[in-house]
Amino acid sequence: LAASQIASVGQRSETIRRSNLSAIVRELHAHGPLSRSELVARTGLTRSAVRGLIGELSVGGLATERSGAPLGGPGRPSVLVAANPAGAEVLAIEIAVDSLAAAIVGLGGQVARLVRVERPRGHLAVDDLVHDVRELAGQVGNPWDQSDRLLGIGVAVVGMVRRSDGFVPLAPNLGWHDVPLGEAIAGALGTAAPVAVANEADLGALAELRRGAAVGERDLLYISGEVGVGGGLFVGGRPLTGAAGFAGEVGHMPVNPDGAMCGCGSRGCWETEIGERALLQRAGRPIDGGREAVESILAAAAQQDAVSLTALNETGRWLGRGLAGLVNALNPRMIVLGGLFGRVYFFVAPTIKEQLDRFALPAAREVVRLAPAALGVNAPLLGAAELALEPVLADPAAWLSRTPQRMLASA
Ligand SMILES: [Zn+2]
Repeated sequence: LAASQIASVGQRSETIRRSNLSAIVRELHAHGPLSRSELVARTGLTRSAVRGLIGELSVGGLATERSGAPLGGPGRPSVLVAANPAGAEVLAIEIAVDSLAAAIVGLGGQVARLVRVERPRGHLAVDDLVHDVRELAGQVGNPWDQSDRLLGIGVAVVGMVRRSDGFVPLAPNLGWHDVPLGEAIAGALGTAAPVAVANEADLGALAELRRGAAVGERDLLYISGEVGVGGGLFVGGRPLTGAAGFAGEVGHMPVNPDGAMCGCGSRGCWETEIGERALLQRAGRPIDGGREAVESILAAAAQQDAVSLTALNETGRWLGRGLAGLVNALNPRMIVLGGLFGRVYFFVAPTIKEQLDRFALPAAREVVRLAPAALGVNAPLLGAAELALEPVLADPAAWLSRTPQRMLASA
């Protein structure tokens, strides 16, 4: 063989090794702990390859092995392989309408620490946000002081996000236009660790897909609502981000030319019919009553209060009708309803389904099922952690190669 051919064979086997390491880490992250045999079955790799890869991951601190319970009767106990949460950690941050949250999450999705604080609705000055983020991050444990383990920072925000640099052109419910959020968070934390920012609903969808109501699904439509309405889409197992990351702004589909003014500056967006304010108005409450007023409608509906049930039903009708359009356009296998819609679903599921039956194309309608979100209020925060963990899932070898230097430096 010529020298160049040898080099190319070497490169190819290195590429294969990296992709095999990634396959193992993804399995452990999503489904662990697993036995070696389960890893063989799930990845299609040989037993000896799996053994070697686990060895590498264990030495590099990304996996651990321990004895499991003996499987039915005599014989050796099986060895279980697990992701090591302390081996790679991320800081997740969520900027929601009503609250701010931060968490430290390790490989395998284990939440080490989580803090959520309420915040008043309305405009959020970026300087105040920077201050609050620094304080919250401090409360979950100054992670940037241990930057050898901090893989990165993931941020979920209620607004449009340009994925490449975390720039937010518009976040109506925060009063933001053109905010360089990724840069602001990196500055606030004084870290060189990468900051990945994405829309809250996109990350809610990711979390529900990995750990919630949609595990195992590949074609998911996630719709979440409070004051605003967000959508997150997965097609063939991949997030549908659009050219710049703005896809999924389903709340701003124009549905009613005679509708109310929307926070985006347009009129009659879907959000003006299915968002919190429309529900409050239909139930005869002040439209800025916030979460407390919504809770009181839901409580009254549980007591069969007719006005509340009628208001919820009207929201369900608009919700189902819009979903029918999305089912026709996107042909999802599953629709997960988060936030307010998960609660509305509980009361008016038949109305939503009846609208789907009526307005969705039968062939597309037949294959879609609906479910409320499983992860509750923390879905976007957990999705932000998944986003920040993605580099170590995609290429754990790059992370492992940093280990020797770190060990030498601290020796
Ligand atoms: Zn709008």
